[in-house]
Amino acid sequence: MNPNESNAPAKKSLLDVSFDELTRIMTDWEEPVFRARQIREALYVQRRTRIADITTLSKSLRDRLNAHYTLRQLSLEAYIESEKDGTGKYLWRLADGYKIESVVIYEGRRTTFCISSQVGCPLDCKFCATGKMGLLRNLTPGEIIEQVLQMEHRIGRRPTNIVYMGMGEPMLNYDSVMQAAETLTDPDGYGLSPRRITISTSGVIPGIYRFADEERPFSLAISLNSVDDDVRRQIMPISKKYPINDLLDAARYYTEKSGRLITFEYVLLDRFNSTREDARKLVKLTHRLRSKINVIPCNATDEAYRPPSAEKTAVFREHINERSRRITMRKRKGWEIQAACGQLYAENQRRKKSKKS
Ligand code: SF4
Repeated sequence: MNPNESNAPAKKSLLDVSFDELTRIMTDWEEPVFRARQIREALYVQRRTRIADITTLSKSLRDRLNAHYTLRQLSLEAYIESEKDGTGKYLWRLADGYKIESVVIYEGRRTTFCISSQVGCPLDCKFCATGKMGLLRNLTPGEIIEQVLQMEHRIGRRPTNIVYMGMGEPMLNYDSVMQAAETLTDPDGYGLSPRRITISTSGVIPGIYRFADEERPFSLAISLNSVDDDVRRQIMPISKKYPINDLLDAARYYTEKSGRLITFEYVLLDRFNSTREDARKLVKLTHRLRSKINVIPCNATDEAYRPPSAEKTAVFREHINERSRRITMRKRKGWEIQAACGQLYAENQRRKKSKKS
């Protein structure tokens, strides 16, 4: 399972440690509790990247922290940027040699960070390059948080929004995903509004119920992509386990329990889900739910999963615009830089192989 270049991390990241845990550690080390607050401020307000630079702490405490923890585990393997819209895609190398992707997308005043939650993904959606990798491992909270801190540092700007739509299924790495989201929204730390973080699931129903029952304050999106069970099973094998009606029941439970809207993402794929009839069914099936729907033309490079033609997309758009204002058609961002998840990773691996052969 380890990649050839594996170099297992010797130390845990301080970003993996929640504030409560940090407080416990300081107590165990017979340090005053306010040290935990100083460390949180250094990491998430002052954005220190080295423990040695946390000068609010004594030298001996910094040395002790340094002996047990690190602060950076991601190094940049590749970066590409769209000349058309500035979309930037990062390929990070983790301490054990695995690689993950993150994307920054600019839309008007919004700066959205699209982050990964797993190395690879077990769900095998057919239009997705990450699905072809299978699951290699879950990311730790620190590896999730660090994607945000590193991108922010590189572009010199805080994100307005964070979406868990990179590699992986967030509901299958639930605890780490939630810990990272809590850390990023801690008002005494990084301080992002919880509503600005979207957890996007391909439809892992137990995760949706848990998310609702735990009254998580983050936004929730479901990647729906078809309103026909046969088609959805073909393009998203998870649908064999969790059919559309059960998924919509879970979505309804969430909206009623939270009083909030849910977002359905709908990737337009030629030959699968982009006819006028599909548009009609999409409106019909979702109009009773407190929801909004984002329709996005597919970004895949696989010949079998292409976006529909401009004409077909226009017909789809007209049909839904006539019937629902909750549905928005989004533009493809970063098309020419392979901004859909897993594509930069796949390209990087392909180049490595062709160099070797
Ligand atoms: S689309 Fe998301 S859930 Fe599906 S295989 Fe890709 S990463 Fe996994």
